[in-house]
Amino acid sequence: SAAPPGAGAIVAAAGIAASKSDRQRGARVVAHSHVKGLGLSGAGYALPSGAGMVGQKAAREAAGVAVELIKIGKMSGRSVLLVGAPGTGKTAIAHAIAHELGTRVPFCNMVGSEVYSAEVKKSEVLMESFRRAIGLRIKEIKEVFEGEVTELAPVETPNALEGFGKTIESVIVTLKTTKGSKQLRLDPMIYELLVKERVAVGDVIYIEANSGAVKRVGRSDSYATEYDLEAEEYVPLPKDEVHKRREVVQDISLHDLDAANARPQGGKDIMSIVNQISKPRKTEITEKLRMEINKIVAKYVEQGIAEIVPGVLFVDEVHMLDMECFAFLNRALESNLAPTVIFATNRGMCDIHGTDIRSPHGIPIDLLDRCLIIRTQPYTLEEITEILCIRADVEGVKFEPEAVTILAEIAARASLRYAIQLLTPCRVLSESNGHERVLATDIREADAVFYDAKSSARVLLEQGDAFIT
Ligand code: ATP
Repeated sequence: SAAPPGAGAIVAAAGIAASKSDRQRGARVVAHSHVKGLGLSGAGYALPSGAGMVGQKAAREAAGVAVELIKIGKMSGRSVLLVGAPGTGKTAIAHAIAHELGTRVPFCNMVGSEVYSAEVKKSEVLMESFRRAIGLRIKEIKEVFEGEVTELAPVETPNALEGFGKTIESVIVTLKTTKGSKQLRLDPMIYELLVKERVAVGDVIYIEANSGAVKRVGRSDSYATEYDLEAEEYVPLPKDEVHKRREVVQDISLHDLDAANARPQGGKDIMSIVNQISKPRKTEITEKLRMEINKIVAKYVEQGIAEIVPGVLFVDEVHMLDMECFAFLNRALESNLAPTVIFATNRGMCDIHGTDIRSPHGIPIDLLDRCLIIRTQPYTLEEITEILCIRADVEGVKFEPEAVTILAEIAARASLRYAIQLLTPCRVLSESNGHERVLATDIREADAVFYDAKSSARVLLEQGDAFIT
């Protein structure tokens, strides 16, 4: 059974959307690119080092249990809360959980304070993040037909208004294929494309279709010159004359679809909804639009073209959220379309933001009740050294052994994140110093040029008068 027309357009547009959202999230994700999973044994015990993760044994094992619960569907309505000092791997563990849930599971990263924007409502910021963390995997069969043109005839009808000439209504293309001769009645737009390509009788052409709807026509089957047809026309192409067939899978998020279609004048049909992806603009996404998108997505899921992939939403600094946000979260977590939400904080007992109600981690008790709490512990010098070596490898930085020790000491003094951030500047410095590998002296030089957060704060304390306050 053929899919409704326009299905192929989702796929065509999806690539653009996916790469766009990757770019937006990219900056924060890149620091954890070495993390490929939780690094647990088959029995669920943490290997000393595995899948890019080092140490933090208890937290990784607890996260492994959370992954199992998610997989068997016992986590709905519940969340994970990671508690620990800055730089102890909370974000890294959240990433690892996303990896464990499957390949290409969406991961959306936000910081609590992001909800305080002058232009956008708090619940809107949270809703957007929720939808960024829900993926849509679209599977489609692309079929290519090959044949020699034996007839190319536009079908014209006189224009209703006299004196306005004729309109091309469709085009008859007859192809000589390996299976015989086939006459196709195609959309007039295809005729324009054929004329533009100077296709004439005797030429071999290739027609690409997605689920039965013609998408591209060209002179080569690699489509050096591709045409994206906006036409919705359903063209019955002969199944038995397919020249090539391949499955195409694309991942996009629900937010990509929302954003692409947040356009007041957009049509309601699937084609115009999906085509908006290539024309992003900053317009408000309304609740109504989201409902429309949900309906379309549900239709595609039902037809087996698309599959919902619930991802992971990581909310760092959850203590920055206020009561309104927590109320939203309590509701949103109940939804059957919710991603796995992982909160993180480095606060102990504190006031819930905007109130004088004290609560553990600044989180209301009712939400806290829904959380599996996982603690991260400070690292030993050996663990820090190993994490630095893994990162150096990923960033292509080569060290003298002594240099790693110095960098690990800097991490212990300042922070692990600062030391990781110093890796590439160290390499650049060592190259300009003419060294083949990063030496201890290069590290000292880089550390002298930059300030970590703690030493910068110390300068502020000592020389406060010199700054504008
Ligand atoms: P914050 O509270 O400041 O957000 P965090 O606890 O989320 O900090 P991360 O950002 O996860 O800390 O860790 C800092 C860096 O160290 C990241 O690049 C992270 O990938 C890496 N890292 C932290 N812990 C580990 C670990 N156990 N194994 C491998 N890499 C790690």
